Amino acid sequence: MNPTLTVIGAGAKGVAVAAKAAVLRDMGVDAPDVVVVERAEVGANWDAMGGWTDGQHRLGTNPEKDVGFPYRSALVRRRNAELDERMTRYSWQSYLIATGGFAEWIDRGRPAPPHHRWARYLRWVAEQIDMTVVSGDVQRISVDGERWALHTHDTVLHSDGVMITGPGQAERSILPGHPRVLSIAQFWHRAAEHERIAAERVAVIGGGETAASMLNELFRHRVSTITVISPSVTLFTRGESFFENTLFSDPTGWTGLTPAERRDAMARTDRGVFSARVQDALLADDRIRHLRGRVAHAVPRDGRIRLTLNSDRGGERLETVHGFDLVIDGSGADALWFLPLLGQDARDLIELGLGGPLAGDALCESIGYDLAVSNVSPKLFLPGLSGLTQGPGFPNLSCLGLLSDRVLGAELGAAPQRSVRSSDEHQPVR
Ligand SMILES: Cc1cc2nc3c(=O)[nH]c(=O)nc-3n(C[C@H](O)[C@H](O)[C@H](O)COP(=O)(O)OP(=O)(O)OC[C@H]3O[C@@H](n4cnc5c(N)ncnc54)[C@H](O)[C@@H]3O)c2cc1C
Repeated sequence: MNPTLTVIGAGAKGVAVAAKAAVLRDMGVDAPDVVVVERAEVGANWDAMGGWTDGQHRLGTNPEKDVGFPYRSALVRRRNAELDERMTRYSWQSYLIATGGFAEWIDRGRPAPPHHRWARYLRWVAEQIDMTVVSGDVQRISVDGERWALHTHDTVLHSDGVMITGPGQAERSILPGHPRVLSIAQFWHRAAEHERIAAERVAVIGGGETAASMLNELFRHRVSTITVISPSVTLFTRGESFFENTLFSDPTGWTGLTPAERRDAMARTDRGVFSARVQDALLADDRIRHLRGRVAHAVPRDGRIRLTLNSDRGGERLETVHGFDLVIDGSGADALWFLPLLGQDARDLIELGLGGPLAGDALCESIGYDLAVSNVSPKLFLPGLSGLTQGPGFPNLSCLGLLSDRVLGAELGAAPQRSVRSSDEHQPVR
């Protein structure tokens, strides 16, 4: 029997891994049975229903960075070119050709598609490969002998390996239920309903891609000032030259950098930075400003929301209070969103592998070549946390074809574990 790999979330990563597994099987090569558990529908987070967008905003990366990109498989001895050729059948261009949109896309100058179109692309791939999707919201992850057990409200799925995807909980809010505080999902729900937001002073908590999309939308509403609150020194522009982009599509050499060099590269290109396009389009607008700090708490007072911010200035902890008419809490984007789902047995197993308490830094540092937590069996793949050890492109859309190679190259089930690879030189070969 084939081992089972269960993916939590039918987003870009789940579809990429399922597509490559399907292609491998078509080639007569062993691959795990990929089952995807999804609480909404395939590609939901790229549509208004997922709460992360209204679907109208555009993809930040090029759509050619699709489920097979960069088409440089290293998974099947002497047949990798064939594997890549077969994967191109599920490329962005193949989707456009199949749906009659290719010529128009070229003639328009190959624009980045709106998010809802990207969702449709993911759904098209899922349909083409007949992806197995189980409908359900995974609410708990536990261990059952040598397998994982994923609990939804009405079923338990057993699996030899689990991959967790997705950006977190768009519904999270620092003051749930208060009309002057919106979660990411509430904000996008309003935008999707074409509800006009009118407020004097607006705060957006959080930086990076999530905040960038929200700024892009807020810009059109009747607001006097928008304050972006993040712990970084300022709102940095993302480095987007060939040399910086290549770190995302090609992690060769990443493991040869020191942890400090990797953190530096990620800070310039990834964490909490705005793309040059966003900087040009939005941040020149004098309504937008930045406030450095971490929001400790929020209280409603005198018709406003008062946010208490903590920040470090010259080693001294500073506490400041600021009032806003509307707060948009963008802090729901959290790569560690799944921690509360782990049952005590799952936590114990992971802590055993980590050799210490379950903490974000320890998990990030423990991710091996196969994007799973080292020394933990059954395998737990956490591509969202693999940036530091394996390359900054793995958590996002930058190298989904490499991600699927790494995950499908891992040994699942009771078979003896391959040693964890720590260097790019050791490519898995079947
Ligand atoms: C607004 C926005 C724009 C972005 N733009 C870009 C971009 O242009 N380029 C880029 O590289 N990255 C971008 N990102 C980052 C993006 O999140 C990742 O690149 C990419 O979506 C990750 O794919 P994924 O498969 O991990 O998650 P997703 O594509 O987000 O899919 C996750 C899926 O998991 C499901 N799910 C969540 N929790 C559960 C659960 N408990 N049980 C079952 N199902 C669940 C969701 O419904 C969803 O369908 C953007 C992020 C945001 C928020």
